[in-house]
Amino acid sequence: MKKFIAVLGGGESGVGAAALARKQGMDVLLSDSGTIAPKYKAMLDERGIEWEEGGHSVERILTADEIIKSPGIPLTAPLIVEAVKRGIHIVSEIEFAGRYSDARMVCITGSNGKTTSTSLIHHILVEAGVDASLAGNIGKSLALQVAEEPHATYVVELSSFQLDNMYDFRTNIAILLNITPDHLDRYDHKMENYAAAKMRITLGQTPDDAFIYWADDPVTRAMLPKTDIKARQLTFVDHNEGGHAAWVDGDSVIHIAAGDVPEWTMPVSELALPGVHNLYNSMAAAIAATLCGVAPEQIRRSLGTFQAVEHRLERVAVIDGVTWINDSKATNVNSTFYALGSMTQPTVLILGGKDKGNDYSEIEQLVRDKVAAIVCMGVNNSKLLDFFTDKVPEIVDTHSIEDAVAACRRLARPGMTVLLSPCCASFDLFSSYEDRGRQFKKLVIG
Ligand code: ADP
Repeated sequence: MKKFIAVLGGGESGVGAAALARKQGMDVLLSDSGTIAPKYKAMLDERGIEWEEGGHSVERILTADEIIKSPGIPLTAPLIVEAVKRGIHIVSEIEFAGRYSDARMVCITGSNGKTTSTSLIHHILVEAGVDASLAGNIGKSLALQVAEEPHATYVVELSSFQLDNMYDFRTNIAILLNITPDHLDRYDHKMENYAAAKMRITLGQTPDDAFIYWADDPVTRAMLPKTDIKARQLTFVDHNEGGHAAWVDGDSVIHIAAGDVPEWTMPVSELALPGVHNLYNSMAAAIAATLCGVAPEQIRRSLGTFQAVEHRLERVAVIDGVTWINDSKATNVNSTFYALGSMTQPTVLILGGKDKGNDYSEIEQLVRDKVAAIVCMGVNNSKLLDFFTDKVPEIVDTHSIEDAVAACRRLARPGMTVLLSPCCASFDLFSSYEDRGRQFKKLVIG
């Protein structure tokens, strides 16, 4: 009998999974409780895939042999809870796609730096002539590419939500950048659960594979003894210490000792991306690319030519001596910590949005040292005002991007930087962090 697959969620990953399942000759129903974008409906129709929107045919879905769940649907959704109760196997699109591909999988996870590092590795591989393609949270879904335009290597950005339903997927080169509190609302407010999801990146690995991580990350270190890691472990640190695959001599030269090539070096000043956080991202990328067989000279060149990804410490303009930076992607406290850490001028900081249970004490000292004024921008700024009032020379309460930018214009003097790095999700005032960043840039440039 044909296998019946129910795909829940009609976005990029769900539609890709449905296309792959269909190609494998399975019966497929794609079901979305909301609306499916016209582009995706057309893709489903072209491939003769049955779909529904605005609700689920629950009983039918519960007869599925397997369910492919989009990462946005929480494990606590009633339909998922019922499916688990009935013993239906639930997988992510990535897990499903992995069964039908023997391409090299380079996968990147972490609380911060995923998109930057994924793009960086992709850039290095493509410049070196490797047939590499982006997948996961970036670009086209892995499943669709496996079904219709296979590549030799995939560079895959994995969120903890994707990892939640991964079991046997084999990651040839896994990178875990860091683990800091994020999305705890989806993990019973327990850091341990969230960290365990991140460690799942190692689950399907064998001794022939590699697991690259930041050796100084306290949460990753705490998870290591609790995880059965079969892959070779390669670590990076930002200081000079033996035994690592990447380290920094003084604060000026990166050393890489990975793969079969002799140890090689690169001056930190040659890196295209600034800041300590990008030093980590660059070291992780250099180790991964070395393992993929790219020549050190080529990696060095590519790390020096990479262009910053939009909304990540993106320099928008310098107007009347004031530098404006869009770091809208900073949706948690840790990413703002690193953004502030890389500021070299007195800063007017725009903070605020949807707070995911933030603890602002993590950035308190940096704010005291570097911030001349805070502009709060959100529907409700009371938590920010309570925490930061009296800790900065000036704090302003605004409820729209127009008012926030106007306040920054008034507050910033020549030689200062205005930094949009909000620490919070954007959904109270914007449709996404991209929308927030673009509106900011438009108002700044005029
Ligand atoms: P992700 O895809 O994990 O959300 P991004 O590469 O989009 O990460 O970067 C998100 C934010 O985190 C940016 O504001 C950036 O300044 C900051 N960031 C980037 N890399 C790191 C890192 N290794 N550690 C901490 N923060 C980082």
